[in-house]
Amino acid sequence: MEQSTSPEQEWQRYLDARQKVDDELSQLAGLDHPLLADIFLVHQEILHDRLLTDGVRQAIDRGTSAATATQQTTSELVQLFQNLSDDYFASRSVDIRDVGQRLLSHLNGVSLARQLAALPPNTILLAEDLTPFDTTHLSSQSVTGIALAGSAPTAHTAILARSLGIPLVCSLGSALFQLAPGQLAVVDALQGRLIVEPDPELLESYDQTRRRLLAFRITAESHSQEAAVTLNGRRVLVHANINSQEDMLQIANSGADGIGLLRTEYLFQARIKPPTVEEQIEAYRMIGSQTTGEILTVRLLDIGGDKPVRYLPQMAESNPFLGVRGIRLLLKHPTLLRDQLQALVALSLESSFSGVVRILVPMVSKIVEVYRVLEMLDDIPGYQAQHRPGGRLQIGLMIEVPAAALLADRLAPLVDFFSIGTNDLAQYTMAADRVNSAVASLASPLDPAVLRLIAMTCQAGQMAEIPVSICGEMAGDPSIFPLLFGLGVTEVSVVAPAVPLVKEAVRQTNGDAARRLAERALQASRAQDVHRLLHPE
Ligand code: PEP
Ligand code: MG
Repeated sequence: MEQSTSPEQEWQRYLDARQKVDDELSQLAGLDHPLLADIFLVHQEILHDRLLTDGVRQAIDRGTSAATATQQTTSELVQLFQNLSDDYFASRSVDIRDVGQRLLSHLNGVSLARQLAALPPNTILLAEDLTPFDTTHLSSQSVTGIALAGSAPTAHTAILARSLGIPLVCSLGSALFQLAPGQLAVVDALQGRLIVEPDPELLESYDQTRRRLLAFRITAESHSQEAAVTLNGRRVLVHANINSQEDMLQIANSGADGIGLLRTEYLFQARIKPPTVEEQIEAYRMIGSQTTGEILTVRLLDIGGDKPVRYLPQMAESNPFLGVRGIRLLLKHPTLLRDQLQALVALSLESSFSGVVRILVPMVSKIVEVYRVLEMLDDIPGYQAQHRPGGRLQIGLMIEVPAAALLADRLAPLVDFFSIGTNDLAQYTMAADRVNSAVASLASPLDPAVLRLIAMTCQAGQMAEIPVSICGEMAGDPSIFPLLFGLGVTEVSVVAPAVPLVKEAVRQTNGDAARRLAERALQASRAQDVHRLLHPE
């Protein structure tokens, strides 16, 4: 957009917007949360970085408006950072985009969140990508579907959209943007396609499906606070996954029976040094005080792979997902591990959360890793007292590497619970990078190979009489629940908006039918066949 005002006026508009964003970030950084505050401090650093400021100034001097200059400069910086080989800097591109969006919302006088919330009914939203944050502002009342040019289907946005009841298809490429506003289209998320100008018959059949799904959601939400019990009388705990402080806001009304996966990475990233034991206790105390239900499952730091932190110089790895991540990294940095364990033992001794604290160990592939964590715990004062039958501390393992699933019968007697991470289990079983959209269809958690590992893990859990949960994204899809139950899964943990839907799916599940479904799925040859078992025409 060209300027209708002078460069000096546009520059002043930019400075005014920057001041507003600065105030906003100072306010957020001042929230009573020492760990989270660091993220906003990093955003403030970006806001005042010369790369951004000089880029905007130069674009304004070339005759563009403050908004266009901000848009162009932040897009260029995002691109630049994304292309860096250093994972830490590459991951900063998300922060730059966030700061850019904040600036633009002030320059355009309307926030993106508000624009998204005010879309007219029957909208199909076309976009390159959507952040999970953007997605939470959408409403199924107005947005009928989302079609993305980019993004792998495993992205958290996809599952979030599904939880909100909005069908989403992705990886459609830039041809998507040739669609004209007002054109009629159908987003078929089950088959992953966008149908443009469907004939009336097809449209009517899609309309019926939509009405059926809407009715399911309304029923589910009206019962969200009730326990989920299968038709054959088995109570299934439906927990929530928490990835950030913002997610905590969503659990209050979700009906979640507890937190089944607290990904603690967000407490450790965007910092210059790791949080101290006291800072961690403070953060867990706050989370504990907001936790619904009786269980708070805290996963030990799962960094490395695609999740670096600034204060641990990591060796460049050509295959980071196969490198030093999760428990492997923690065992190389015993102080980091001990501090986190100590903070969690301390939480279990406090009264800010009266339920059970579950410690979850990520990326286990060898039994010796479990021995080493247990040995370290043994030396922490208070552990022995709380880790006993009826105590307030439990230890569990993420089963997300095929080796752990294959050794599940050896691992189960050592711990109190299993949680199957199907996002990684599918990636490692199928040897298909979970963030590479070119192989996304290979890494389906419905592949019979993955299902057999899930079944094996459940059998080992049953023998040792410990609960087996699934916390990967597949658990958030209510249509998959009967299969998981039939395989022997006893609990699930899903994004908060999916809790009511999965609870309703539990209520409609019949144990015998679920077991027959699981047997057929285990005998299937392909993920597509399993998909068809779940969604018969
Ligand atoms: C998983 O791997 O399924 C999981 C829940 O962990 P994350 O997605 O954080 O790797
Ligand atoms: Mg994982």
